[in-house]
Amino acid sequence: MMNVLIPGSLDEAVMHYRKDPQHTRYLAGGTQVNRLGRSQSLYQGVLISSLVDADIIREDKRLTIGAGATLQDLVDHAQVPESLKRACLFAQSRTLRCMATVGGNIASVRDDSYLLPLLGALNGEVQFHDGESMALDIYLGERREPSGSIITRVVIPDCTIPVFLERASRSSQTKPALTVACSLGDQFRVYCSAAGQFMRRLQEVEQLAEQSADDQRIISLVQRTIHPADDITGTGRYKQYLAGVLIAQGLQELKGKRKEV
Ligand SMILES: Cc1cc2nc3c(=O)[nH]c(=O)nc-3n(C[C@H](O)[C@H](O)[C@H](O)COP(=O)(O)OP(=O)(O)OC[C@H]3O[C@@H](n4cnc5c(N)ncnc54)[C@H](O)[C@@H]3O)c2cc1C
Repeated sequence: MMNVLIPGSLDEAVMHYRKDPQHTRYLAGGTQVNRLGRSQSLYQGVLISSLVDADIIREDKRLTIGAGATLQDLVDHAQVPESLKRACLFAQSRTLRCMATVGGNIASVRDDSYLLPLLGALNGEVQFHDGESMALDIYLGERREPSGSIITRVVIPDCTIPVFLERASRSSQTKPALTVACSLGDQFRVYCSAAGQFMRRLQEVEQLAEQSADDQRIISLVQRTIHPADDITGTGRYKQYLAGVLIAQGLQELKGKRKEV
């Protein structure tokens, strides 16, 4: 059984967390913390679900998402872009979507995250309970070891930019082999995650895409850039190839949209 603390404020929640970070987890939707097979008895939970903002606010192109919003909240919201709804629908279980929060998804930093590649491609910024904020890329780079900071919001500065999003998996409910997300704002942004390959921004590929329209060169560069593991979803080499093909396809589609503008 997990011992659950119910703090009265986010500051109190952080205080509990920092007393024993190794054995403490926040409980938002609880779908990651309480997963079958995880050893809940190792942890105490600090319930934050009622303390974290769940509002979703669209102001022109800017989208602000409260970290307490669930994946289903995003799917149901009229002003959330289709790409983000699609990422949420990668979680095929409606029950799961109604529980799983955006903040919990980001903080879980899974290599098969439903949201992280797309939020990266959309240049997402993460805000914290203490007023600090940072680009998602920096958060993921610096904060893999949890410091106890509570994510309160995610801000997407322009949610109208064209994106390409694909997730390859053996079935809708199994772990995906990989997820790729590309976007075209002022420049290309290319993100890929795969089993054993934590989500990465592929800046070398972005640069090549600006210079060359040659699919084969892009596929080869992606193959050299990411290093997924062999597992039940496929061999590492196959995932390298698949990522190359999907990214080349995504970049071609986005280049087509650039020409239309
Ligand atoms: C059957 C099943 C399959 C799943 N498959 C996937 C999958 O393919 N991809 C995927 O991404 N997820 C998957 N998940 C995990 C999970 O559903 C999602 O990642 C979900 O978005 C986690 O959100 P949560 O609110 O439930 O997090 P919780 O379980 O409440 O918390 C998860 C972690 O995030 C931290 N945390 C929570 N909220 C915050 C916050 N606001 N600020 C800082 N830290 C916070 C907690 O300390 C904890 O470490 C799966 C879960 C199940 C049960």
